[in-house]
Amino acid sequence: MSETWYPVIDYERCTGCGVCINHCSHGVYGNDNSKPVVIFPVGCVHGCRGCQKRCSSGAISYAGDNGRQQSGGCCCTKPC
Ligand code: SF4
Ligand code: SF4
Repeated sequence: MSETWYPVIDYERCTGCGVCINHCSHGVYGNDNSKPVVIFPVGCVHGCRGCQKRCSSGAISYAGDNGRQQSGGCCCTKPC
């Protein structure tokens, strides 16, 4: 769990496809009229980029990202 790493959505880019909401199994996202809303940021796994990698719009960045974190910290049962 992380208080210093969580997704930030660029709503100018987000198409509302729902891929990120459906992918994350940590309860980070809620759904507001098909747009993702980060409702549980501390549930995000530090270093995970699972939803970012699946966002075809490039709408997901991370608070706390200094460009050095590598994916692989996630404990999802889904491949991240
Ligand atoms: S995957 Fe990207 S485009 Fe789709 S809902 Fe999430 S942030 Fe928006
Ligand atoms: S980075 Fe991983 S844990 Fe965090 S919201 Fe995306 S899929 Fe969920």
